[in-house]
Amino acid sequence: MKRIGVLTSGGDAPGMNAAVRAVVRKAIYHDIEVYGIYQGYSGLINGNIKKLELGSVGDIIHRGGTTLYSARCLEFKTKEGQQKGIEQLKKHGIDGLVVIGGDGSYRGAKALTEQGFPCVGVPGTIDNDIPGTEFTIGFDTALNTVIDAIDKIRDTATSHERTFIIEVMGRHAGDIALWAGLAGGAETIVIPEDNFDMDEVANRLKKGHERGKKHSIIVVAEGVMSGPEFAEKLEKATNFETRVSVLGHIQRGGSPTAFDRVLASRLGAHAVELLLEGKGGRAVGIEKNRLVDYDIIEALAMPHRVDLDMYRLSKELSI
Ligand code: ADP
Repeated sequence: MKRIGVLTSGGDAPGMNAAVRAVVRKAIYHDIEVYGIYQGYSGLINGNIKKLELGSVGDIIHRGGTTLYSARCLEFKTKEGQQKGIEQLKKHGIDGLVVIGGDGSYRGAKALTEQGFPCVGVPGTIDNDIPGTEFTIGFDTALNTVIDAIDKIRDTATSHERTFIIEVMGRHAGDIALWAGLAGGAETIVIPEDNFDMDEVANRLKKGHERGKKHSIIVVAEGVMSGPEFAEKLEKATNFETRVSVLGHIQRGGSPTAFDRVLASRLGAHAVELLLEGKGGRAVGIEKNRLVDYDIIEALAMPHRVDLDMYRLSKELSI
């Protein structure tokens, strides 16, 4: 392998830049040239490809978003689109590709691998919903953003003795809601991985009121329902007035935490190591603080599991 490419795709996540930096520096360290593919698979199809030097990735380790930009590209879901991408890679003499993104991006990498072009997937998404890794790049930063918001909302909830419903991101996964809810001391956490009973939520709230607790924080994962929808149902069940806060895109931005920078550096470098060993079609991850990699096709088929022990703990601690 003499020349590799790197792209970021799908929803941006803090730490993607640190991963790109690691890919570039690790490759150059091993005398491999690196080309940046801008705007994800869309840029791949259109040939938006430029050589990256050591200095190209200077001063980005602390920046959120992605300096390679990201884009959604429907055309890449077709065989024709994928062939156009492979032609561009060949035209630029690129022998292997690192794809940093979420599960949609992995499907793109899988498609290229199945057509004979070696790709390695690096998990970059705040949702923590990629199988084959305990943590994805960006999750820890998003979590800290949510906790900061919960702490601030708690001040108002306490002062006004109100019930606050905070809707957080996570797509179909409840990881952000669970971790942020536990760390933020939420009274109730609602995640898609477990059925919830509105009567039970209402009873907990009423019991709290009876013992003098006048404010509550309820964290709802977007994968269950929207915050306003949840508030409407809860108000019907309790007659309590509620306030809703939908945190939205602030969860995706910001400077990556130390954890995400270190994770991104390790995973990005590991992806390059695999390509150097001639191993394509892999997805890298971290388990028990050790770097791991799986067949990208098998990884995509593995279920993502939220930590239900932690979920039970959150219930025990919020009685
Ligand atoms: P994420 O990677 O964050 O999950 P998306 O689901 O939007 O984000 O996927 C990012 C991009 O990956 C899509 O815009 C598309 O170009 C590509 N992609 C998604 N699914 C597939 C697929 N089944 N086959 C090929 N490419 C895909």
